[in-house]
Amino acid sequence: MTEVIIIGAGLAGLTAAYRLKKSEIPFRVVEARDRIGGRIHTLSGPIEMGATWFGSQHIHLRQFLTELEVENFEQFTKGKISYDLHPQAPAQYMEMPAGQAPSYRIKGGTTSLINRLVSELDPKQIQLNTSIESIHDKGGVLLIKDKGNQEYQASLIISTIPPQLMANVITFEPALPAATQKLMSETHTWMGESIKFALSYTRPFWKENGFSGMGFAQTGVIEEIHDHSNAEETFFSLKGFLRTDLSELTRSEREQLVKAQVVKLFGPEAADYIGYQDRVWIDEEYTSVKSVTPLMPHQNNGHPELNQPLMNQKLLIAGTESSPVYGGYMEGAVYAGTKAAQQVERLLKTTQSS
Ligand SMILES: Cc1cc2nc3c(=O)[nH]c(=O)nc-3n(C[C@H](O)[C@H](O)[C@H](O)COP(=O)(O)OP(=O)(O)OC[C@H]3O[C@@H](n4cnc5c(N)ncnc54)[C@H](O)[C@@H]3O)c2cc1C
Repeated sequence: MTEVIIIGAGLAGLTAAYRLKKSEIPFRVVEARDRIGGRIHTLSGPIEMGATWFGSQHIHLRQFLTELEVENFEQFTKGKISYDLHPQAPAQYMEMPAGQAPSYRIKGGTTSLINRLVSELDPKQIQLNTSIESIHDKGGVLLIKDKGNQEYQASLIISTIPPQLMANVITFEPALPAATQKLMSETHTWMGESIKFALSYTRPFWKENGFSGMGFAQTGVIEEIHDHSNAEETFFSLKGFLRTDLSELTRSEREQLVKAQVVKLFGPEAADYIGYQDRVWIDEEYTSVKSVTPLMPHQNNGHPELNQPLMNQKLLIAGTESSPVYGGYMEGAVYAGTKAAQQVERLLKTTQSS
């Protein structure tokens, strides 16, 4: 049997791989980056440069975590919230209003989920440093080519490349319908423009001073910031998002601006950090597309057309942006990956019986 090829070793691709493995369907995962995880990227700490939180409404993800025995813990929110509302005014503080729904994080970092999935697969089934550039419908099979001109044949393809990126970088032969191509290029890639930053400390001075570590700003460079200490409370960190136009600055310029604003939000001890990290996601060539007309957040995520198999039922789009359920989020990635694996099973049965 020609294998199924899954493009992308992010959460959606690895969820599909895990499900296909359970159904004993041969497959291979090809991944452009030199690492697995895609928009899940945990640095040592653990510090999340990508996906971090989920909520009780994310039922497919929660069931999946239970199935895989991956533990989670509640986001720390106790204490004062800091607000920076005006460049000339000092920060203001408020207690967290009662009745807020908690959010949760994965113990050991979000990458624990990715590593758990990979532990169920044969390492030979995942091929890194393989950037796909074209998909050619040869009738009975699909022929795909990577950057190094290496060719692979597949009976079916599950693509988890964010649709907007896919429309920009993959050549289809024959071309996809113009309306599909347009729809994909107008599908927002969740968090594709974001900048995450994190500061690590030897002690959680904010907690000691009655702060939650949560802060919001209407001025300066930080949009929001949260406690990012680990579940065991042995690693202490604050992590948040920066204004997206800061992608034009150098890392050290961003760091200096962040340092000044965390001091304003949490006091002078905030300057005594031992590590600064940031990640500009618009610069990530395997996630985002630069210089395009800005799209609305979640624009076209879960669009029904993204759920229709293409190339004579041989190409399935299955990244989180295709999911009608929480498209853009980890929940959407688990939903889409699972659904694609079920679709593959059905399509293979149909071809075998015809
Ligand atoms: C900064 C940030 C914060 C986030 N925070 C949260 C959060 O708190 N909660 C939440 O639920 N979600 C969050 N998300 C979204 C979450 O990360 C995604 O929903 C999820 O990881 C998407 O998984 P995916 O597999 O669909 O896509 P991706 O993770 O994007 O995977 C696609 C994979 O395809 C690969 N690829 C791309 N092009 C090619 C090619 N040509 N050839 C081969 N491979 C290719 C990529 O390298 C990547 O590994 C966040 C995302 C970011 C960036």
